[in-house]
Amino acid sequence: MKPLSFTLIELPYAAEALEPVISRETIAYHHGKHLQTYVDNLNKLIAGTEYESMPLEEIVAKAQGAVFNNAGQILNHNLYFTQFKAAKELTNERTNELTIMHAIEREFGSFEAFKAEFEQKGVTLFGSGWVWLAADKEGRLQITQEPNAGNPITKGLRPLMTMDVWEHAYYIDYRNRRAAHLQALWQIINWEEIEERYVICKGER
Ligand code: MN
Repeated sequence: MKPLSFTLIELPYAAEALEPVISRETIAYHHGKHLQTYVDNLNKLIAGTEYESMPLEEIVAKAQGAVFNNAGQILNHNLYFTQFKAAKELTNERTNELTIMHAIEREFGSFEAFKAEFEQKGVTLFGSGWVWLAADKEGRLQITQEPNAGNPITKGLRPLMTMDVWEHAYYIDYRNRRAAHLQALWQIINWEEIEERYVICKGER
């Protein structure tokens, strides 16, 4: 098989589109520097190995150590950056009708209760990592805390939505205020994208 070479994803919005929730400067560092470094590292690490021709999700499911860390961070950031939309472009009228919204209300009691649990898990994750909304094979939802480069794929779950709690995600804009950053992110979550991920994962059953 032809060796794959991973590339930096393009953002589906302008670098300043998520302001004031996420600044252009944070996007420049987070996407342009941090994610680019993970891409460059992974390409070097997998050259000439069994991972060279594997899709990213398979590498994350199978690898350990440095290959896992860099592949996990690419997958995590790809899902993270593509789940946002400028707040002014979000069409909230349709959001309440989405399957994912009904599933959230069923699983957590209400959207507010879901948000509270998600933020609490983000604030209490010690050190660097990710909080995820993930679905099992039956389409049941859960919120998971994953340290460092973790992704719920390694638990047999499908990742739907995530918040990055590495300091590089918020330190320029929010300094040490992780909770304030997490609270603000709800304004730019593109629920139609999360719906697509949820519908695809339900289709895999
Ligand atoms: Mn990050």
